[in-house]
Amino acid sequence: MAELGRWTRAMGTGLGTDTSWRAVVPPVHLSTNYVFDSPDSPGRYDYSRAGNPTRDLLAEALAELEGGATAVPVATGLAAVTLLVEAVVPVGGVVVCQHDCYGGTWRLLDHYTRNGRLSARFVDVNDADAFTDALEGASLVLVETPSNPLLRITDIRATAAAAHAVGALVAVDNTFCSPLLQRPLELGADLVLHSTTKFINGHSDVVGGVLIAREEDRGERLAWLANALGLTSSAFDAYLTLRGLRTLDARIRMHALGTEAVVEAALGHPAVAALHWPGLPTHPGHDLAARQQSGFGSLVSIDLSGGRPAVDRFLDGLPVFHLAESLGGVESLVCHPATMTHAGMSPEARATAGITDGLVRLSVGLESAEDLAAIIREALDRAEAPGRRLPSASPQ
Ligand code: PLP
Repeated sequence: MAELGRWTRAMGTGLGTDTSWRAVVPPVHLSTNYVFDSPDSPGRYDYSRAGNPTRDLLAEALAELEGGATAVPVATGLAAVTLLVEAVVPVGGVVVCQHDCYGGTWRLLDHYTRNGRLSARFVDVNDADAFTDALEGASLVLVETPSNPLLRITDIRATAAAAHAVGALVAVDNTFCSPLLQRPLELGADLVLHSTTKFINGHSDVVGGVLIAREEDRGERLAWLANALGLTSSAFDAYLTLRGLRTLDARIRMHALGTEAVVEAALGHPAVAALHWPGLPTHPGHDLAARQQSGFGSLVSIDLSGGRPAVDRFLDGLPVFHLAESLGGVESLVCHPATMTHAGMSPEARATAGITDGLVRLSVGLESAEDLAAIIREALDRAEAPGRRLPSASPQ
């Protein structure tokens, strides 16, 4: 028989392996502790913070999908950033991070900088001169591509080559693509992280993260440190996340249909000052995204020409798209980055990153593509015409 593909192997992780009752779905192991054979002879597991069979299944599936040696599931996406920093940045070291990274990542690196742990340099990684200058003395380059919320694309291969030339490691936050649309380790990155809260779990009911290393030695150190720092994920969260992961491929295909319909509805609408989606041939990163990704993702940001008042009109009575943070779930979401996800950034940092008060970010869910397109068309009509309320835009 031909060798099974990566997705088939990953989605079936652990299925049919239960030896107690031959359950198809492996049970969740909630026990915090495990019996020793004798005082100096533990079994495979001893204490759940250090190791847990359910968490190990999730780790196996995620390492398989990203093509890494080791995956370490942790409590949150930001715990993955914390683990990354603690593992690879020496005290006083330099971290280069793109200026339009996730607001929580910015806040964490800014905090570390203020308390003297490290020095974070936020730069436009697509500005070759600024990036080269920032690299001097760096231990780590952290990129997010596509970026949040403006969906800028960074060339992972070129970034890795430049960073490696000065001895820095490269980590990619692959949350927006999931391993099904982009595999940074194959493009030269050393580490990949995800907020598994998003596409990987996909059902908006678990907060989690993972850090994946290409090399085994580094992966083993990460696993050791995640236990030492107390960052590892709970067994139940790992169980739910693996359950969500098993449908990732089907969800990603369906997200794409809705996203294309929404983009078509917004394209050329007079209320739109700028439409950010890497699938548009006019997007500055389109060609690069077409090369390094195998799909354009389901995040779309719309800069409304009427600024904040237009945002309020867009949101007024908007059905189906819940006004909430996060992304990548089965349900459609809308957020206002300046006051929500990116409120942790200083106003100056937001301005430098290009996050305006008129920007809304959509996470397109799995509802019918036709409904989603109609809803966005009506919301844009409202945003354009103050006081105009279309009859079909009924409140949820
Ligand atoms: N990275 C990205 C790109 C994110 O969007 C987020 C959260 O929104 C995080 C990291 C942090 O993940 P978590 O909220 O799971 O801590």
